[in-house]
Amino acid sequence: MKEKIESLWAKNKGHVLIAGPCSAETEEQLMASVKAIAAEGIKVARAGVWKPRTRPNTFEGIGVPALEWIQNIKKEIDIQFAIEVATAQHVELALKHDIDVLWIGARTTVNPFTVQEIADALKGVDIPILIKNPINPDLALWIGAFERIANSGITKLGAIHRGFSSHRKTKYRNEPLWHIPIDLKRTFPDIPMIGDPSHIGGTRDLIESISQKALDLNYDGLMIEVHPDPDKAWSDAKQQITPARLKELLEVLQIRSATSDNVLFISKLEQLRNKIDESDHELIDVIRNRMDIVEEIGLYKKENNVAILQLDRWNEIIKSRGMWGKEVNLNSEFIEDIYKLIHAESIKKQTTISNGHKLSE
Ligand code: PEP
Ligand code: MN
Repeated sequence: MKEKIESLWAKNKGHVLIAGPCSAETEEQLMASVKAIAAEGIKVARAGVWKPRTRPNTFEGIGVPALEWIQNIKKEIDIQFAIEVATAQHVELALKHDIDVLWIGARTTVNPFTVQEIADALKGVDIPILIKNPINPDLALWIGAFERIANSGITKLGAIHRGFSSHRKTKYRNEPLWHIPIDLKRTFPDIPMIGDPSHIGGTRDLIESISQKALDLNYDGLMIEVHPDPDKAWSDAKQQITPARLKELLEVLQIRSATSDNVLFISKLEQLRNKIDESDHELIDVIRNRMDIVEEIGLYKKENNVAILQLDRWNEIIKSRGMWGKEVNLNSEFIEDIYKLIHAESIKKQTTISNGHKLSE
């Protein structure tokens, strides 16, 4: 993807690549990181200056001296800098030190009061503001943060998808839940979406596959943590990569074109989409038929004064359907999720019947 790297909001829209250490640690470490990434054609560097850490008494960022390092580095290297801001005071200090791009971190996006304070501090400014998804999978909260920042007059907005905290044990540090950034993209089609494979993955070995997946989903860019000596990093050591690895990554990552004007491709795609449309009609008919039976059972239960929720039957359904799916090569968790939705709707229907309402209500 190297030849496609662009700076933020460049006119001939390529892909934005933001790279650099999780945290600015020393002036030397920051300079080494920035030199290495600039050599790869990257036009925007990242570095955490204030770090929102889960536990106290861990490294919480260098603060103002790091802003001065950034100013010194920018005198030597032609690169833009992006940093995280979490308070109105951070915004003021960042602007005072000519930082080019600000991002709102995941732990800040969750708090509308703080986002509003940041928005107020941004009045009259027009630099790019990137908003990371909130740590919890709440699309409305993410949208709300965009609305607050946009209301203060910011026009260069971007989204960073860094994944979501989850109680489920997965291979990710933060579960990607790709449908949420896709929904955000549907809400705001013009806002560039940047993937943050470092914070989604949490380990170095996942960076490539997550980055490729983001590009396959037409993301507009990536933010990747790069450190000259990742194992010795003061924060997020496991997920940072060396500049040499970044170079390899840029060689292997593939940018897919959003569309193709090849006539054969277009007609084949159209044929396949027609098949999908037919298949979806059938699917909806089947669901309708199933719901008719659910309603009939609902009436029958009501007549016989039997409770709606039959736990044994429900347990049997979810187990057997997951297995049936597996037999035809469908992910059993996916099938179970579908059945949870169908079951919830069935219970709703039968509750209406049991309460004596008309089915059409
Ligand atoms: C970071 O980018 O270093 C960071 C703290 O990220 P997040 O807000 O996604 O946790
Ligand atoms: Mn980090």
